[in-house]
Amino acid sequence: MDKNRTYRIAVASGKGGTGKTLVATNLADMWSVDRELLLVDLDVEEPNDALFLSVVPEPAQTQFKMIPEWNSDRCTLCDICTEVCNFNAIARMGEYIIVFEELCHSCYACSGLCPTDALPMKPRRMGELQIAKREQFYFIEGRLDIGQEQAVPMIRKVIQTVDKRQDIPDLQLFDCPPGTSCPVVNAVHTADLVILVTEPTAFGLNDLQLAVETMRSMNKEMGVVINRDGIGDDAVQRWCDASGIEVIATIPYDSQLAYAYAKGKLSWKTNSRLREALEEIIAYVSEKMKTHV
Ligand code: SF4
Ligand code: SF4
Repeated sequence: MDKNRTYRIAVASGKGGTGKTLVATNLADMWSVDRELLLVDLDVEEPNDALFLSVVPEPAQTQFKMIPEWNSDRCTLCDICTEVCNFNAIARMGEYIIVFEELCHSCYACSGLCPTDALPMKPRRMGELQIAKREQFYFIEGRLDIGQEQAVPMIRKVIQTVDKRQDIPDLQLFDCPPGTSCPVVNAVHTADLVILVTEPTAFGLNDLQLAVETMRSMNKEMGVVINRDGIGDDAVQRWCDASGIEVIATIPYDSQLAYAYAKGKLSWKTNSRLREALEEIIAYVSEKMKTHV
């Protein structure tokens, strides 16, 4: 893969349930008719893109994260590790050092600063990664094991895999986790363009505003897609206009679309209004790609 030609689009939303997956899966499937592309499901806590796609995955690859393991024989109870951890993932209880694996961000700080090498980093299973290919459509999914609470290490692993593989198309769509916290920040970190999917309601506007604030703090280029147009008012469109954010496309509310989604079916072939919206997104992104360096 020529890294200079790679164009990465993050499909994100300020909250779940706005239609982010509907847009990402239908857009990827429809666009792959014309060109090679990769869809990456980075919603690693609840990945569900694969439910909509006719792809046969390669055998799953187990993924590990690095966690410090306390060696009591070497420890002098100096407390450097408990003081340096920004995530409260390591604590001292009497003469014991306890590592809370679910809070650990694998930053290596405690391990590196321990003066007696009493906290070597050891691999722990966190989930699986799956890769699939169908004609011009490539797909990668990261999936955390049940009970794992740290999405960021898994998201980083998936992106590292995309970066390393040489057989990956240069057009890449990342279906990101919802929200505005660490997982989505890590998921959009390398994106050239962010598409924010929202809905025309007061909740949709509020969450969109938070998402825009996050993307602006990261200097991300972005556009908005309004899903379920018609169920609310035009406040989202007016706010975008006033804020200088382009509304790339609107997808009218359609109960058939919601029904097909609930059944795990793609709708771009049967729903002309969805197809028109996706064509507008493709035209918008294609223009952006022309000026991408
Ligand atoms: S930094 Fe190392 S020696 Fe100090 S308390 Fe932590 S594990 Fe023990
Ligand atoms: S590796 Fe980082 S996050 Fe994990 S316990 Fe050590 S300092 Fe805390």
